[in-house]
This record gives sequence, structure tokens and C-alpha cells, in this order.
Amino acid sequence: MAVDQDQNRQRIKQLMRKPGNNYCADCRAADPEWASYTLGVFVCQSCSGLHRNIAQISKVKSVLLDPWRPSEVEFMDSVGNDAARAKFEKQVPAFYYRPSRTDCTLLREQWIRAKYERKEFIYVEKQEPYTAGYREGFLWKRGRDNGQYLNRKFILSEREGVLKYFNKNDAREPKAVMKFQSVNACFQPAKIGTAHGLQITYLKDNSTRNIFVYHEDGKEMVDWFNAIRAARFHYLQVAFPIASVSELLPKLTRNFIKEGYMEKTGPKHTEGFKKRWFTMDDRRLMYFKDPMDAYARGEVFVGSKDNNYSLVPHFPPGIQGNHWQFGITIVTPDRMFLMACENEKEHRDWINAIENVMDRPMLPHEYAVEAYFKHKP
Ligand SMILES: [Zn+2]
Repeated sequence: MAVDQDQNRQRIKQLMRKPGNNYCADCRAADPEWASYTLGVFVCQSCSGLHRNIAQISKVKSVLLDPWRPSEVEFMDSVGNDAARAKFEKQVPAFYYRPSRTDCTLLREQWIRAKYERKEFIYVEKQEPYTAGYREGFLWKRGRDNGQYLNRKFILSEREGVLKYFNKNDAREPKAVMKFQSVNACFQPAKIGTAHGLQITYLKDNSTRNIFVYHEDGKEMVDWFNAIRAARFHYLQVAFPIASVSELLPKLTRNFIKEGYMEKTGPKHTEGFKKRWFTMDDRRLMYFKDPMDAYARGEVFVGSKDNNYSLVPHFPPGIQGNHWQFGITIVTPDRMFLMACENEKEHRDWINAIENVMDRPMLPHEYAVEAYFKHKP
């Protein structure tokens, strides 16, 4: 018996090293050490925990710690990650978001459920919620000023090119109309304080607006997210007809480059430092009094080094007042922005985030954004 156990263990370990099996079948993390012996896939520890939530479909074991039967090893050998992907990911729409190891639990869990439990990518008719080009439903939306969540009707219409919501169910006019051109969506469970929390941002008169929504049902929320991605994809395909699919996909939705508190001064650098929540969204460095404010208090456009933007990792001499210890000076063609970080790690992370953006050459449409910021009253 012990000899058999040893043999089974050796065989399953060999399978684990086969190309295709050396990345988690669901989030692509390297060197997965768990396996679903009913689906025939190797997964990382974190995804194995999510497989336990669909125990009627997936049963998991540790490759290294659990005992294996010969028939289970046989089954793993006959399937494996490549074959499972060919089956369960046969028809994933190009725009559909595939989560990675660092994404929130909701995205990773719904990806696993969509693949194996609902089999959405085997039966295309199940993709209707995010492929139809039209979607309506109710979401809990955070009130702009009072922070209270109210149930609001949302409509996404590719024909009109907008996402909109209504304050009253019988209202004819929407409360807000968000054009797909500027809409972004990203899951922000920690910031919003709920596992299904989605932040939607859009531009209105070149200023950024934030709304915060969630739905109790994880599938509904992820369906909204992918419907927004589908709408963005179709919008971009029309706007940039010669761009390839792989060029467009990273533009569908974007996570913020960095977020967190820093202190800042006003334009004269004499008003003292105030603590603000900063969000680096591509080239827009926005600051808010509260992380969940509807509108940014202000924005700094971060151009490229070639266009006279630079960063100095400390303050200029002679800066007065109480402030956090670790200074950053952003120099734009117009003025200097002084920011203070609380600790060394934040200081280093912000410098990296801002310098990465500055190192990138500016794209044609970004000059228009820069021009707007220069002439802002
Ligand atoms: Zn994984």
C-alpha cells in the first residue's frame, strides 16, 4: 500500500510539471500544487479554495499532501489544464475579463463558476447578459453626498453609446448619462467596503466623476462589468478601425496605477499641507478629500519627460510648516506640485508610479488633455 502511495505521488508530481499544468488553470499563477480530480485541472491554493465552493462539480486535493488513488491519477493524466481549457474556455468572448492572481476574490470566483458551474463558454446563449448590447437592472448606488446606498435603475445601451441611471423608477430623464468613450470600471472591494463593490468613473466636461455601486449577487455584478467591457470594445473598434484586437483589449477597463494618501500644498506653497486621497489613473493624478468623493478636488496632468515633466524625490529648499517627512516635487511646464508621503515605502511606490508614466511618450490624444489642463481657469 505504502509503495503504491509512493508511486501515485510520483506520477501526479510528474503530471504537475508537464507544460500546461505548471500554471494555475484559472488564474495562471506559477507552480500550482492543488488539483481538482473531478475536472482534471491543476490549480493554485487560492483557486482551490474557490473550487471548494462548487463542491458538486469540483473536488480538490493537494498534490503534495493528500493521498491519491490510481484512478484519480489516471483521470488527471487523461485531462490536464490544456485539454480542460480547450473545453471550458472554448468560446470566451475577446472582451471578457480573465482574472489573474492579484484580482479580487469576486472576479476570480465568478470566473471559476462561469467556466465550470455555468459552462458559459461552452453554451454561448448563456453569454447573453453581456453580449446583447443592451442591459438594464437595479444596482445599489452610493449617494453622492450622504454616502447612503439606494437602489437605482441602470441602463446600458450600445445603440445610444451610453450607460445611464435613473433616480426614480418612473423618471423620464436619466440622472446621469455616461458615454462609453470615457467610462471606466474597476472593482474596489477594499475601498468601497463591500466584496462586490465596483467603481465607475467617467468624464463630464473633462472632469472626472466617480460613482460607487454593487449588487448582492456576484454574477450580476460581474455581468455588468463585462457588459461595460463589451460596450467599450465595440466603441473602440469603431473609433479605431485599424487597431488590432490585442491593441484594444488593454484599453477596455483599467485599474488605477496607484492610490493612497499624501499631503499637498496649494499653488503658492505657503498655505500649509493638507492630507488628500490621491488616485493615479493613467496620466491623471487626481486628489480627493475622501476616497469616495464624487468629484476630484483637483487633477494634475502627468505628461512625459520629453515634454518637460519631471519628478524630484524631495522638496525644494526652504519649505515651511508641518508635513510628512518624505517629499516629492512634480515639475510641470507651468508649476511645481509638492506632495509629502508618510513613509519610505509609500514614497518609493509613488515615485515609481509617477516616473513610469513620465517615461512613456505622449500619445496624440493626450496632448489635447494636456492643453485642457493648461488652460483650465
Ligand atoms: Zn489560481
